Amino acid sequence: MSDTNKITALYCRLSHEDELAGESNSISNQKDILQKYADEHGFYNTAFYIDDGYTGVDFERPAFKRMIDDVDNGRIGTIITKDLSRLGRNHLHVGLYTEEYFPRRNVRYIAINNNIDSDNPDSSAVDMAAFYNIFNEFHVKDTSRKIKASCVIKSERGQRVASRPPYGYMKSQEDHNKILPNPETALVVKYIFQLCADGLGPAQIAHRLEEEQIYTPAMYEYSQTGNVISNFDTSYPYRWNPTAVANILEDVSYLGHTCNFRFGRASYKDHRKLKLPKSEHKLIENTHEPIIDINIWEIVQRLRQSKRRFTRSGEKSIFAGIVFCADCKQKLYFHRHAREKSENWKFICSSYRKNSREQCTMHGIKESHLKEIVLHEIRNVTAFARERTDDFAEYISRESNTAAKKELSEANKKLKKSEKRLAEVGIIFRKLYEDHVLGTIDDDQFRMLSQGYTDEQNQLKAEISDLKHTMQELQSQTANTARFAALAKKYTDITELTQEILHKFVSRIEVHEKLKDDNGSITQEIDIYFTHIGIDSYRNCKVDKKKTESISLNKSDDSP
Ligand SMILES: [Zn+2]
Repeated sequence: MSDTNKITALYCRLSHEDELAGESNSISNQKDILQKYADEHGFYNTAFYIDDGYTGVDFERPAFKRMIDDVDNGRIGTIITKDLSRLGRNHLHVGLYTEEYFPRRNVRYIAINNNIDSDNPDSSAVDMAAFYNIFNEFHVKDTSRKIKASCVIKSERGQRVASRPPYGYMKSQEDHNKILPNPETALVVKYIFQLCADGLGPAQIAHRLEEEQIYTPAMYEYSQTGNVISNFDTSYPYRWNPTAVANILEDVSYLGHTCNFRFGRASYKDHRKLKLPKSEHKLIENTHEPIIDINIWEIVQRLRQSKRRFTRSGEKSIFAGIVFCADCKQKLYFHRHAREKSENWKFICSSYRKNSREQCTMHGIKESHLKEIVLHEIRNVTAFARERTDDFAEYISRESNTAAKKELSEANKKLKKSEKRLAEVGIIFRKLYEDHVLGTIDDDQFRMLSQGYTDEQNQLKAEISDLKHTMQELQSQTANTARFAALAKKYTDITELTQEILHKFVSRIEVHEKLKDDNGSITQEIDIYFTHIGIDSYRNCKVDKKKTESISLNKSDDSP
């Protein structure tokens, strides 16, 4: 049955997330299942490849790499895993191995619990592999949420979530959940705050510490414990990073407080650390002995505030760029109230915002409501496309692209108008400079007038670039049903609206103004344009807003 000269690789993998899920995925359980299967099916020359403690999101796993090396050397004839997710949880990459890489090297692949065997192409299970891969990926998302949730519980009880104490502290010998000032490094922290209070910035402080040959936090950790903290280089033991200095100057740990969730991960696939917005931080006061006195802390914070440039990045809405006002067709502006909870942040019409009430009305809608509605509609449309591909294709072809053509010609007219005005403003500018040079207008008048025209110029430029972009999209939007059905198939069950999913399915959203009927109930219509199916294949949904602000969907258009 199998080539007895070649190895049958029995691959096991266990991640920390799997460990939380229980015993069924334990390494010993996987080994038992694989050995039993091999014995019963006549695979003799078996070898285990075991990755214990490695996530399935990527393939940076030693045993997996060793196994692939052996595949490349032609030593392996068959690979067996308990299920597909043991191989990995990234559907694109797992698919690359199971559908391209293994078959090309004549390696048979078996996933016992999914009934997958590449030597048995008749089995429909092979076609299902792609679907299992997607489910496995969704599972990763799910566990990463669960893990975050259990961290939240720990933090609310006032324990530290991070495993390593902040620089300047050490773990208490008696109670590992407690931290104490480290006599050596606490002095350095005090020195850093003092230097800042004396007026030095983080880069100057870093330089000073290097001059005075004070170990960096990573070097200190290494000198004490031998632990190597991420990408640090022993050849520069004193090279302090200004960002690290700045982080120390902002760390409330030194006041004796614990602030958890200052950092998170960009996504479950991306392991890079990123700063979380202040609203997600959890502060628990007086959890340990302070190092820095409140007076010097406040001086330092004031100095830092006045020097820091404010950037508000990282708070962009996932709808940025695709949500428009249904009446004036301008973009909706994402309005973030600093004092409001983020679920209450909302969109309002940008012409209403800029030019007061004359040009348009508010068209306000909460981002959280929009998310709920759009997710619901994506699920509906994809279900239809998935289950009744032929009907769906017919529906799309019946609905011709007339609306797209109309929209295209409107955009073209607007573009011409904006370009003409931009040329005019250019001429006015030249004239203005001449008048200024000739002394016909004075400095104040010049400043005032040129500011007004600069604003108009910038606005026109932005409009033109938006219009060009819209036109490009419209032109490329052919009623490509096959592509859309394939996309819908790829995402069998969408439970969370991410930016990626949103942009895959939706090209444009238009929000109408709220309408109030005689009973006082408010409805609001939203048009959602889907990608790849032509501009007039859209869904129009009505949202009923009862006084409770609960959303019930009431579609005015039930097709498709
Ligand atoms: Zn508007």
